[in-house]
Amino acid sequence: RQAPRHTHRPDRGNDMAAPSTSRVFAEVLRLPQRQLMKLVYPLRELEQHLVPDSRPDLQQSIFDPSLDDIGRAESVFVATARNRIEYVSSAVRLEHAPDLRQPEVCFIGRSNVGKSSLIKALFSLAPDVEVRISKKPGHTKKMNFFKVGKHFTLVDMPGYGYRAPGDFVDMVETYLKERKNLKRTFLLVDSVVGITKNDNIAIEMCEEFTLPYVMVLTKTDKSSKGHLLKQVLQIQKFVNTQTQGCFPQLFPVSAVTYSGIHLLKCFIANVTGNLK
Ligand code: GDP
Repeated sequence: RQAPRHTHRPDRGNDMAAPSTSRVFAEVLRLPQRQLMKLVYPLRELEQHLVPDSRPDLQQSIFDPSLDDIGRAESVFVATARNRIEYVSSAVRLEHAPDLRQPEVCFIGRSNVGKSSLIKALFSLAPDVEVRISKKPGHTKKMNFFKVGKHFTLVDMPGYGYRAPGDFVDMVETYLKERKNLKRTFLLVDSVVGITKNDNIAIEMCEEFTLPYVMVLTKTDKSSKGHLLKQVLQIQKFVNTQTQGCFPQLFPVSAVTYSGIHLLKCFIANVTGNLK
C-alpha cells in the first residue's frame, strides 16, 4: 500500500504555514515571545504596567489584529515587480495633485515630529523609494505623493511650524477638505513632548472638517517607560474627552526600534481596504 501523500511533502516550515507573510515578518515571528509582543503590540506592553482595574483604558482592543493579519498586511509594503512602490510627484496646490483614484492616506505633523523617519520606516521594504526632505528654510513646502502598488497612495504633507505662511495653511486645508479619495489622516505627535500648540491647530482642522483621523505617537524609544506611559495616558484622555473624529486608539511608534510599525502598517492596509 502507498503511504498517504502528505507524508512525502517536504517540510517547508513557516513558508507553508503563511504563504503570503513577507519573509521579513517571518523573521520577526521567530523572535523570543516577549520581544515579539513588545515590538508588535506596544500598547499591550504598556498596559502591563498599569494598576489592574484602574481602567484608564488604552482601548487597545479596538484594532487588535492577529499576527497572521499583520503578516499579510506586511506584504502590501514589500516592493516587487508587481507591487511597485514609488514616488509619484509633488504638489503645492490640490489642483496639481496626481489624479490617482485609489484609496489615499496622508501624514501630517509639525516639523521635526519624526514624519520623514516614520515614512522611511513604513517603506523600509521598498529601498528604492526616496523620502524627500526639504527642510531648508525658504524652500517651498510641498505635498509628496507615493504610490504603493495598486493598493493605496501615501501623502507626505509638509511639516508645519511656528511661521506657517497663509498659503501653506490654505494648501493643507484645501487638500484635507476636498480630496475625495482620502481615507484617513495620520496626525503625528511627539511622544516625548506631548500635544503642542501647533498640534492643536492640526487637530482643530481635522475636527472642523469632520475627518476621520488617527494619532500616531512618534519617538517612543526616547522616553523611559514611565514617562511614555504618562504621556500615552494623557493623550488618550485628551482623545476621549476633546475629540470627535479621532480614532480612539493611539499608535505609538519608533522609527529606531520599529516598535509599533508593523501594527501601523496593518492598520493602514485595513483602512485602505487591503486587508481582506
Ligand atoms: P520631520 O521633520 O517630522 O520629518 O522629522 P524627522 O523624521 O526628520 O526627525 C526629526 C528628528 O528626530 C531627527 O533628528 C530624527 O533622527 C529624530 N527621530 C525621528 N524619529 C525618531 C525615533 O523614532 N526615535 C528617535 N530616537 N529619534 C527619532
